[in-house]
Amino acid sequence: MAKSPEVKLAVFGRAGVGKSALVVRFLTRRFIWEYDPTLESTYRHQANIDDEVVTMEILDTAGQEDIQQKEGHMRWGDGFVIVYDITDRGSFEEVAPLRSLLEEVKKPKNVPLVLVGNKSDLDHVRQVGTEEGERLAAEMACAFYECSACADEGGAVAEAFHELCREVRRR
Ligand code: GDP
Ligand code: MG
Repeated sequence: MAKSPEVKLAVFGRAGVGKSALVVRFLTRRFIWEYDPTLESTYRHQANIDDEVVTMEILDTAGQEDIQQKEGHMRWGDGFVIVYDITDRGSFEEVAPLRSLLEEVKKPKNVPLVLVGNKSDLDHVRQVGTEEGERLAAEMACAFYECSACADEGGAVAEAFHELCREVRRR
């Protein structure tokens, strides 16, 4: 039997956007309110995606590492989730620079990527419109998901990770 494919995924975004909550939601279908924000962890997870068992290694970055550490994580990964918080415009503004750094580190390859606008349950304090997320994703030629780690109706969180795996496998 062919060995099941393995993909390395790294999750990036400003501290507090909900990276850890999203990863935990994806892995356990649960929401954990408080997570040590300085913690960086890797997880292994298997999923059946389009009738193929895919093994993922997921790196949940802390979001406050220096540039060398960031570049190291970028070199390690095959695919990337860039997360911002729809209630934090500053976190949205950090997306494009992260993407540029990725391109720089990974060149000449183009980088499998998904963009996630998290905390969609907090629509009443939203600072970043859905169309803005869509537009940025279109500019970066990647898939876009708005989702909520704490109220994940419809499984958008898993869909984002699965789509990223597909994107990595297509390269
Ligand atoms: P990280 O620093 O990016 O890993 O962010 P965390 O996962 O530690 O989350 C930061 C804070 O945002 C925590 O207080 C979480 O409970 C909260 N949080 C994360 N995701 C969501 C979400 O989808 N909705 C809401 N309302 N809060 C969230
Ligand atoms: Mg975290």
